[in-house]
Amino acid sequence: MIFEADIRIPYRFIHDSAYIKTAVADFLELKESEITHIEVKKRSLDARKRDIKYNLKLAVYKDEKYVEQKHFFFPKPVDPEKKIVIIGCGPAGMFAALRALELGIKPVIFERGKDVRSRRRDLAKIHKEHIVNPDSNYCFGEGGAGTYSDGKLYTRSKKRGNTQKALEWFVHFGADKDILVNAHPHIGTNRLPGIIQAMRESIIAAGGEVHFESKLTDLRIENNRLKAIELNNQTWYECDQLILATGHSARDIFELLFERKIRIEAKPFALGVRIEHAQNLIDEIQYHGLHNDENLPPASYSLVTQVDGMGVYSFCMCPGGIVAPCATDAEEVVTNGWSPSKRNNPYSNSGMVVQIEPQHLMKDYQKNPFVCLDFQKEVEYACWVAGGRTQAVPAQRMIDFIQGKVSNDLPETSYQPGLKSVDLNTVLPPMIANRLKKAFTEWGKKMPGFLTNDAVLHAPESRTSSPVKIPRNDETLEHVETGGLYPCGEGAGYAGGIMSAAVDGMNCVEKIADKIAR
Ligand SMILES: Cc1cc2nc3c(=O)[nH]c(=O)nc-3n(C[C@H](O)[C@H](O)[C@H](O)COP(=O)(O)OP(=O)(O)OC[C@H]3O[C@@H](n4cnc5c(N)ncnc54)[C@H](O)[C@@H]3O)c2cc1C
Repeated sequence: MIFEADIRIPYRFIHDSAYIKTAVADFLELKESEITHIEVKKRSLDARKRDIKYNLKLAVYKDEKYVEQKHFFFPKPVDPEKKIVIIGCGPAGMFAALRALELGIKPVIFERGKDVRSRRRDLAKIHKEHIVNPDSNYCFGEGGAGTYSDGKLYTRSKKRGNTQKALEWFVHFGADKDILVNAHPHIGTNRLPGIIQAMRESIIAAGGEVHFESKLTDLRIENNRLKAIELNNQTWYECDQLILATGHSARDIFELLFERKIRIEAKPFALGVRIEHAQNLIDEIQYHGLHNDENLPPASYSLVTQVDGMGVYSFCMCPGGIVAPCATDAEEVVTNGWSPSKRNNPYSNSGMVVQIEPQHLMKDYQKNPFVCLDFQKEVEYACWVAGGRTQAVPAQRMIDFIQGKVSNDLPETSYQPGLKSVDLNTVLPPMIANRLKKAFTEWGKKMPGFLTNDAVLHAPESRTSSPVKIPRNDETLEHVETGGLYPCGEGAGYAGGIMSAAVDGMNCVEKIADKIAR
């Protein structure tokens, strides 16, 4: 028989299986010798009080054999007559391809960037030589922005689709099974490239195609229907079902759609800075004075407030992480953050951003779909100039920023291309800087110790989500005016992270499969 048990245990016993077995036996009034296996179904940490606890949902096997499920991906033989073309090999594109294979449809992916291995060399060039390859960087290449991301897999979009399947596929391709049970699943940047490569190998083995260094450069539309796509400015490819999953940084795609009169719209997004603290400090704040405790994960935080009518919040917080240079073009700087699976770097970083609506920037914003994108570009360019026209970022200590004082010196941070001491009030628009200052002061009171001059701000954090939307029909998921075009994932405005992009990719394929079947 299999019993369910919900128990709460003191945090220090989380790795003590004998303690957990005794607690479960007491809870279910069983003899310990009768318990053949305990499977964790859900695990969450409750550190709100000093008495830190783990909540565990368990399946307890009594005189029953446990069989571990290791395989979750079951492709069908592909029917060569049924094909879906996918632009972009990020989470949206890859999960679309995997789902197509499960439905017996052949996916053909075209990706502007390189495979994960070759891509790594281009990342090294950003770090060491300040050279940004516009087709191969932290956002572009196999696995998209997801490959060298932090790999946090939480999502608020469970209603949008099958998030459980997405997690199971990550496990199938090499992620730790813990992601299926942890309240805040995380893979880590060191593990993601191998998983992405395994996904690609399976897509090809199951009958799909993946083409790197193949950039979508034009579209042929006839009578409001997609007919063909152009790759690398030279080859035309007939295509009447296209999933466009090019991510939030493919600015040339937004321009192409605009030129071809395919409707796009300005979309709200968020912009600010990436802050870095010592991880020990964040642990002490969140764990009531504790740090470096092997039974507790490096602590995180989530902060949100309203300042003068606009939302200000922490974004993509990375405990034990690294601040990463995420520009996709030469004359810009952009930051983001990641962490390895063990989250064992001495720093914690997080985006600190202000939510911007198109109407904050322009009254008649409906007339200009690029209003948010242009604002994003201007800030990234201003920071690049202020940083010395390299990939060094303008940076400032936290209290110096609030006081409008250039920092006399800057501590070492995890950001490898280097820092330049700048008063960020001179590069961030006042609408952003002033609200961040007020929010920091408020959060300093809420989390004593958080507001410190040992924390460093890196500017800007600007690629939080897409500043442009490619509108689609809610029912068919096709573009509102162009048949056969399926705007998908974060770049289209329908996802805000790895999981929601993955689920959106699967959803688009299901709609196309229905259409093919009809
Ligand atoms: C450093 C970093 C850390 C992050 N951490 C997290 C995290 O912890 N959790 C989380 O949920 N999200 C995180 N994200 C965000 C996450 O990676 C994205 O939300 C997600 O990858 C979006 O998926 P997507 O498939 O929609 O787009 P993308 O991943 O952006 O993929 C789009 C792909 O399209 C390709 N492409 C673009 N233009 C063309 C073209 N013209 N022709 C062909 N191909 C093209 C690009 O090269 C790219 O590979 C992070 C991002 C970064 C950069």
